[in-house]
Amino acid sequence: MTSRPEGTPVRQVRPKSALAASGAPQVRPKTEGWQQKKDAEGRPLLQFASPKRGKPPVHLADLAPDERVAKVKELGMPGFRAKQLETHYFTHWTHDPAAMSDLPAAGREEFVHGMLPPLLTEVRRLETDRGDTIKFLWKLHDGALVESVLMRYPGRITLCVSSQAGCGMNCPFCATGQAGLTRNMSAAEIVEQIVKANRLIADGGLGGKKRDDHSAERVSNIVFMGMGEPLANYARVMQAVRVMTDKKHGLGMSARGITVSTVGLVPAITKLANEDIPVTFALSLHAPDDKLRDELIPVNSRWKVDEALDAARNYFDKTGRRVSIEYALIKDMNDHGWRADLLADKLNARGRGWVHVNPIPLNPTPGSIWTASEVSVQNEFVRRLNDAGIPTTLRDTRGKEIDGACGQLVATTEDEAAAAATPNED
Ligand code: SF4
Repeated sequence: MTSRPEGTPVRQVRPKSALAASGAPQVRPKTEGWQQKKDAEGRPLLQFASPKRGKPPVHLADLAPDERVAKVKELGMPGFRAKQLETHYFTHWTHDPAAMSDLPAAGREEFVHGMLPPLLTEVRRLETDRGDTIKFLWKLHDGALVESVLMRYPGRITLCVSSQAGCGMNCPFCATGQAGLTRNMSAAEIVEQIVKANRLIADGGLGGKKRDDHSAERVSNIVFMGMGEPLANYARVMQAVRVMTDKKHGLGMSARGITVSTVGLVPAITKLANEDIPVTFALSLHAPDDKLRDELIPVNSRWKVDEALDAARNYFDKTGRRVSIEYALIKDMNDHGWRADLLADKLNARGRGWVHVNPIPLNPTPGSIWTASEVSVQNEFVRRLNDAGIPTTLRDTRGKEIDGACGQLVATTEDEAAAAATPNED
């Protein structure tokens, strides 16, 4: 059952049949070169629970501040050493014992290793010519692979992080979903992606900086659009967010600069709205009608478009943070004018000023059904939404050179990440 926030004006949504008569072909989503796993009823299999695998070693960033002190004492050190380690890790971005001369030399290596065990090993790095976008492939302790993408923009540095190895949401366009969910990442494995990126930036490894800019730099924005569905790994993602935003015991980042995205796990969206951390929330919608969205985003068979939009509106009501709707424009699949109208109707039916739409053109893929909309079609889609009073910004594509393959849409993640990382004007 859907719920509607009290006092929200309700407007009649035009029936789909009246809107559908646009004459444009309808390409249906289907996998290319691989087969979706199906459940007993023949529907795309959804995996919510993480398979049992060897857990990564417990790390400082997995623990609450008092638990860190307890673990430090367990390792035979006085409790105040926890604070020293926090400073090394969250301020200097190091876990190298040699750099920690304020710790006693005797047993230092063992102690640091016990609190800050290595979690990510770099396997590969791809970067754009200017070096302002870098994609990392990391190996986790059990051999699972995840990615993160670091992007410099004017005035901000964004990191797109992974939250799961693999993904259980089985979207037909997504390389990540093909193999299913390998396992949830730990909070520290999520945080470590940021710490590694900050270290690289501090060492001058991210290009695109103006020569006369001498400011100290670090990652300013996080988007959870790497591998995995963040809200399917709720507790660990929230612990990671707490560490990111903790000014005393963590990275001290602004919650507003952190975007948590989802394909629409409604109960978890409601839970997120009730947390006391006003992160930016993005719903990867990609279709306003259930018929298409059931095929495009299989979790839609569990929670329908209206339920996801109600939960998104509720997020705005609870946090005052404007919600982003992510919409990858795919040629003749979801880019019809009537779909822009239907989306506008559904958003306006839930009130004004609470939402922003980010259509993202898919990278052109010749011969694939997953390819970019015509420019005129993109523009028309945006125009219809804006004319209906929905703030809508078509995003530039970026990072094509390195085929940014993390995230909600395999071919467009960096664009989507960029879109979500652009601060709302409110
Ligand atoms: S698009 Fe996102 S939610 Fe869907 S399978 Fe890929 S990573 Fe998972």
